[in-house]
Amino acid sequence: MKETVDLSIIGAGPTGLFAAFYAGLRHMRVRIFDTLPEPGGQLTVLYPEKYVYDVPGFPRIRARDLVKALKEQADAYQPEYHLDEQVLRLEPSEEGYRLHTAKDVYPTRAVLIAVGIGSFTPNTLDRPGIKEYEGRGVLYFVRSMDELRDHRVLVVGGGDSAVDWALGLVGMAREVTLIHRRQGFRAHEGSVKALFESPVRVKLHYELKEVRGNGDRVTQAVIFQNQTGEEETLDVDTVILALGFKANLGPVAEWGLELEGRHIKVNARMETNLPGVYAAGDAVAQEGLGNLKLMVVGFGQAAIAVNAAATYLNPQARLFPGHSSNQG
Ligand SMILES: Cc1cc2nc3c(=O)[nH]c(=O)nc-3n(C[C@H](O)[C@H](O)[C@H](O)COP(=O)(O)OP(=O)(O)OC[C@H]3O[C@@H](n4cnc5c(N)ncnc54)[C@H](O)[C@@H]3O)c2cc1C
Repeated sequence: MKETVDLSIIGAGPTGLFAAFYAGLRHMRVRIFDTLPEPGGQLTVLYPEKYVYDVPGFPRIRARDLVKALKEQADAYQPEYHLDEQVLRLEPSEEGYRLHTAKDVYPTRAVLIAVGIGSFTPNTLDRPGIKEYEGRGVLYFVRSMDELRDHRVLVVGGGDSAVDWALGLVGMAREVTLIHRRQGFRAHEGSVKALFESPVRVKLHYELKEVRGNGDRVTQAVIFQNQTGEEETLDVDTVILALGFKANLGPVAEWGLELEGRHIKVNARMETNLPGVYAAGDAVAQEGLGNLKLMVVGFGQAAIAVNAAATYLNPQARLFPGHSSNQG
C-alpha cells in the first residue's frame, strides 16, 4: 500500500487538473488518477484540435494547448500522477479513504471526484485479429506520435480523431493510409481539406476486414470496398481504430454516493453525502443549479471544493485561501 496523501483527485480532465493546482496552492499533498493514458478528459479524447472561446483570459485557445497549460500550472506543485489507472473502489478507512485500482491501494485523507461524463471506453470492431493484437499494433489512442516513427500506419475512422491522427503522423510515420466507410467526414472542415491536400492515402467506402500478424505484432490489414466487395491487403505496422468513445459513469455509481440521474449530488460547498468526499465539474448536480457542463463552471467548483476540503482537513484553516498573487 502507498503513502497517505491529503487529497486524491479522481479524473484528470480540466476540472481535476485545475483542482490539482489549487490543492497545491493550499499546501496539500495530491495524487491524481485517470483511466486514460493522457490527461485532459474530453478535450484530449473528443476535440484536441478544436478551439474553445469561453475560457477566461484566452480569446481563443486550442483544446490541446489548454490541457498543456493546465498541466503546466498543476505541475508547479508536483502532484503524483497515476494515468492509465482507473479507480475501481472507494473504501472508508482509518486514514479517510482507500482508493483501489487494478495496480495498488492508495490511502487518502480526502477525495475529489472529477470524473466528468465517466470513463471513456473506445468503440471497437468485431473483426479477426483485433482483440489478439490490441496493444501490439492495434491502438485506440495514440499516446505519443513518436512511438509510431517510421511505421506504416492504417487509420480507421472518419471523425476528428481519425483525421487529426492521420495528419499528425505525416512526416513521422513512413506511410499513412486512412479508410472511412462513408463519403462524408464527421471532422472539422478545415482538417478534412488539409487531409486531402496531405500525402495521406485516403480511401473512402473502405472498411477493415481483418488484422493479421506474426504472432508477436501486426504485419498486415485486409480492407474491403463496401460497395464492390473488392479486397486489398496492406502491409502495416500499426492499425489505429479511431471510432469514437462511449462514456459511462462506471464504478463510481457503486460507491454509495447520492446520485441525481447520472450525476453526483453536491451542495454549495461541493460536498457529497460522504464526509471528506467532494465532487466537481461535469460529474455533478449542484444543489440549486443542477448540471451545467462547462469548463469555467468546473474550474469554479474545483476551487470551492478544494477550499472546503482544506477546512475539512484542518478545521483551523480558513475557507478563503488568500490571494495567489501573495504566494510567490
Ligand atoms: C465537442 C465538445 C466541445 C466542447 N466545447 C466546450 C467549450 O467550448 N467550452 C466549454 O467550457 N466546454 C466545452 N465542452 C465541455 C467540456 O469539455 C466539459 O465541460 C469538460 O471537459 C468537463 O471537464 P471534467 O474535468 O469535469 O470532465 P472530463 O473532461 O469528462 O474528464 C473526466 C476524466 O475523468 C476520468 N475518469 C472517469 N472515471 C474515472 C475513474 N473511475 N478513475 C479514473 N479516472 C476516471 C476520465 O477518463 C476523464 O479523463 C465541450 C465538450 C465537447 C464534447
